[in-house]
Amino acid sequence: MALLVYLEAEDSKLKKSAAELASYAAALANGDKVFGLTVNATDASDCGAYGVDEIHVLETAATALTAEQTAQLIAETAKEIGAKTVVIGSSADAKYFGALVAAQLEAAYIPNVVGLPETQDGASLYKRSVFTNKGFAYTKATTETVVIGLAKNAFGAQPNEKSVQVVSMTATLADTKVTSEGTEKASGKATIADADIVVSAGRGLKGPENWGMIEELAEVLGAATACSKPVSDMGWRPHGEHVGQTGKPVATNLYIAIGISGAIQHLAGINASKVKVVINNDPEAPFFKAADYGVVGDAFEVVPQLIEKLKNFKAQNA
Ligand SMILES: Cc1cc2nc3c(=O)[nH]c(=O)nc-3n(C[C@H](O)[C@H](O)[C@H](O)COP(=O)(O)OP(=O)(O)OC[C@H]3O[C@@H](n4cnc5c(N)ncnc54)[C@H](O)[C@@H]3O)c2cc1C
Repeated sequence: MALLVYLEAEDSKLKKSAAELASYAAALANGDKVFGLTVNATDASDCGAYGVDEIHVLETAATALTAEQTAQLIAETAKEIGAKTVVIGSSADAKYFGALVAAQLEAAYIPNVVGLPETQDGASLYKRSVFTNKGFAYTKATTETVVIGLAKNAFGAQPNEKSVQVVSMTATLADTKVTSEGTEKASGKATIADADIVVSAGRGLKGPENWGMIEELAEVLGAATACSKPVSDMGWRPHGEHVGQTGKPVATNLYIAIGISGAIQHLAGINASKVKVVINNDPEAPFFKAADYGVVGDAFEVVPQLIEKLKNFKAQNA
């Protein structure tokens, strides 16, 4: 039975999450045809490397679709190809339009799924992360159609070359109560949502004037910068960088926390990151309990040395 995976695009390119989503969809389809769907992506055929058989590309003059329009596009495409399973990601947008797609398809919506389902009593049982990744819930759908939201970094990209067919499409999208007039990135650097590495700093940095070394470290690593809540509250850093329970969730491969105490509200947002490195001058800082690697030391000594070592390493391995 056909399966549809929606691959988000930005600046006419597939987002990094596309490889993981396509890999998951291909594994879930288990040999059935995998249809992809994206908007204005000029590199849409790249998803063939991860198991998509046919990618539908909506070509539209709109710079960005609203959640309602995205949901309409996904739901109509799913109906047209007869897909009973729709896979989407876990971006902030996906969490919003996922529920709308499910409503239009009268489907179950299972967000934050962290792996392939197991079969139990003839039904699929999905494991998903809950309570800001502090626990897991096991969920079955009672509907024939299901919309699955794959958690970021839960499955990984798994090459599976297919000779993908690219199908250009048009669609008449409904007028919505709001119109999207375009989007703009806060900076040209890696975004927290897409970055593999995030370098984050807290009140231990003492003041905004000390962020030069954080930005330099991020640049050397090709990382995005982030911060704790008080840091953005005080205006040291933009609000878009605040991570945690009340900020952005971070599910990167590497999270480096510098001068951040590790309050529960901060940890709630970064639990899903794979490897956590903590630099803090207080050996009793709670963050060390959640860390994979820890450096007890003064950030103003440790970070410049780290930058220097990384630069040397890169130069030697260029
Ligand atoms: C409802 C609610 C929601 C919240 N949501 C969030 C949230 O989403 N995200 C969030 O981050 N917080 C959140 N908070 C705030 C949270 O409780 C903490 O107050 C906050 O995370 C602390 O920020 P910090 O670690 O940067 O600062 P601090 O707690 O002041 O810690 C600074 C750390 O830097 C270390 N340090 C000091 N000098 C140095 C140095 N020279 N070198 C190395 N280390 C040094 C210190 O040892 C300390 O551990 C929330 C709070 C509430 C009540």
